[in-house]
Amino acid sequence: MYRTHTCGELNANHIGQNVTLSGWVQKIRDLGAVIFIDLRDRYGITQLSFNEENKNLLEDARKLGREFVIQAKGKVIERANKNKKIATGDIEILVDELKILNKAQTPPFTIEDDTDGGEELRMKYRYLDIRRNPVKNNLIFRSKVSQLVRNYLANEGFIDVETPYLIKSTPEGARDFVVPSRMHPGHFYALPQSPQTFKQLLMVGGIDKYMQIVKCFRDEDLRADRQPEFTQIDCEMSFIEQEDILQTFEGLTKHLLKEIHGIEIEKFPRMSYEEAMQRYGNDKPDIRFGMVFGDLTDAAKGKGFKVFDQQEAILGIAVPQAANYTRKQIDKITEWVKRPQIGAKGLVYVKYNEDGSFKSSVDKFYSPEDLAQWAEITNAKPGDLILVLSGALNQTRAQLSALRMEMAERLGLRKPDEFAPLWVVDFPLLEWDEESGRYHAMHHPFTAPKPEDAHLLDTSPGKVRANAYDLVLNGNEIGGGSIRIHDKTMQAKMLNLLGFSDEEAKKQFGFLMDAFEYGAPPHGGLAFGLDRLVAILGGQETIRDFIAFPKNNAGRDVMIEAPDTISPQQLEELHLRIVE
Ligand code: ASP
Repeated sequence: MYRTHTCGELNANHIGQNVTLSGWVQKIRDLGAVIFIDLRDRYGITQLSFNEENKNLLEDARKLGREFVIQAKGKVIERANKNKKIATGDIEILVDELKILNKAQTPPFTIEDDTDGGEELRMKYRYLDIRRNPVKNNLIFRSKVSQLVRNYLANEGFIDVETPYLIKSTPEGARDFVVPSRMHPGHFYALPQSPQTFKQLLMVGGIDKYMQIVKCFRDEDLRADRQPEFTQIDCEMSFIEQEDILQTFEGLTKHLLKEIHGIEIEKFPRMSYEEAMQRYGNDKPDIRFGMVFGDLTDAAKGKGFKVFDQQEAILGIAVPQAANYTRKQIDKITEWVKRPQIGAKGLVYVKYNEDGSFKSSVDKFYSPEDLAQWAEITNAKPGDLILVLSGALNQTRAQLSALRMEMAERLGLRKPDEFAPLWVVDFPLLEWDEESGRYHAMHHPFTAPKPEDAHLLDTSPGKVRANAYDLVLNGNEIGGGSIRIHDKTMQAKMLNLLGFSDEEAKKQFGFLMDAFEYGAPPHGGLAFGLDRLVAILGGQETIRDFIAFPKNNAGRDVMIEAPDTISPQQLEELHLRIVE
C-alpha cells in the first residue's frame, strides 16, 4: 500500500496513529539535529520530521531533494509550532521508515503558488506547473463546472451524444484544420469547427435534446487568449422556440452562479443587438458598470468646430468621478486612444466640475449651455469627466467601446466577483463583408431568419434579423446560438445568398439538405465556450490556466513541440509533397 492517508487529511484526531504517506518533497528544512520536510500531494501538505534518535534516517532525509517522490511511514504526533494556515498544521509525522520512490532533478522553476517561472517555461514543463496550487485548483474547478453542467442538463432530459472529429467542413467563420487521408489519395477530413451539422442531424434523428462537452477546432489567426482547439458545451433541442432555449440555458447559468458563488439572479436582462451597439458600441457589453454611450451627433454639430462638423457620429461617455483628472492623465488617455490598436484621431474631453461648472478642450466652440446639454445626453453627474470620440459610426462605436472598458479597468469597475449576465438577441442574419464584396452569415449559414423579416431576404438582405442570441457575461460572449432553418428550400436559398452556387452547396451540404427532406423538426440550440465560462466563473480573464495543456500565442504546444514535421515516409503514405 502506497499510502494510508493523503497529505491533506491528518489532524489532531489522528495523533498516535501509524500512517503511511506518499508524495513530493516540497521543502526541506535542515536544522542539523532535526530535519523537517513538507510532503505534498494533490490534497495538501503534511510535515514530516526526522531527529537524532534515528541517525541513519536523518542522513537519508538529508539526501533528499526538492520534488523527489517519497513514501514515509511514521506516527502522527502533535506539533510544537502549530501552523494555523494549513489543515494539517496541528500535527507532524515522526518518520520511522523512508523510501525514495523516484528521484527528481531540480525543477526549472519553483513549485510554489507564486512561482519564479515565466509563462513559456511553465508551458514547457506544464506537468510541473500543474503541481502548483493555482493551476491544479483551476483544473479541479473546471471539472466541477463540467460536472454541474452535465448533471443539470441530464436532469433536464438532455442526451449526451458524441459526434465525429473526422468530418468535412462546418463553416463557423474560421479556416478548417484538415487531416489528409492515407486511404483516399488527395482527400482530406476537416476537424469540426463545431458539431453544428451533426447536432442538427440528431434532431432529424429524433434526439430532441442533445448535449455534448466537445472539442472544436478553428484555424484562426491567433488573437490573445484564443486557442486553436477549445471546448464547447454544445446543445440542440427540437420543437422549441427561441424563448424555450433562453429559459433552459438561463436556468443552467443561474444554477452555476448559485452553486459556485451562491449568487441568485432573478432574470437576465435582454437587449437587442441594435440597442447593445447604440448604448455600448459592442454586442457583448459589460453591464457591471454604466458609462452608457450618449449620442452627441446632433448636439455637437454646427457650432463651428470643424473636426466634428464633418463626422458621421459623435459619441461620448461620462466617466464617473474623473473630473479631477490632471492634464497629464488626460493626455495619457488621449495617447491611449490614438494607439494603432484603437486608432482614434483625437479625444475631446469635458470636465463637469463638482460646482456645476464646465471645463473642456473645446471651450472655444461650445458654451456652458452646450456642454450642459452634452452632460444631459451622456448622463453625466457633477464630478464626472465626459470623453468624446468622433468619426464613422461603426469605427467610433468600436473605439469608444474600447475606451469605456479601459476606463472601467483603470477605475476598478470590472470586479471579478460581480456577475452581470444578459442576453443579446435579434442579431442581424447577415453582415456585409467589404473585402469579399458579399454577405457573410453573422452566426452561421444554418441560422433561420425571423419569420417576420423573411420577406426582406430578396430585397434588402442586410436588414433581415435572425432568431439568434448570445449570452454575455461581464463583457464576454460565453454562449451563442440560433433557431435553425429546417426547410430545404430555405437552406438552399440561404447558401445562395452567401455565395454558394447550387453545385457547391450540394457538394458541401447536400447531406443536410437531403436530411431536411425526411421530416426535419423545427429546432435550435446554442453552444457555450467552456474554457471562457470557467475562467470567468473562476474570476479570471485568461482561459489558458484553466486548460491542462494549452497552446501558446503562436498556436504551438511548446511541451510536446507541435506542430512538427513528419517523416518523408509518412508524407508519401499520405500522398503529400512539401513545396518550398
Ligand atoms: N455552432 C455554433 C457555434 O459553435 C453554436 C450554435 O449555433 O449552436 O458557435
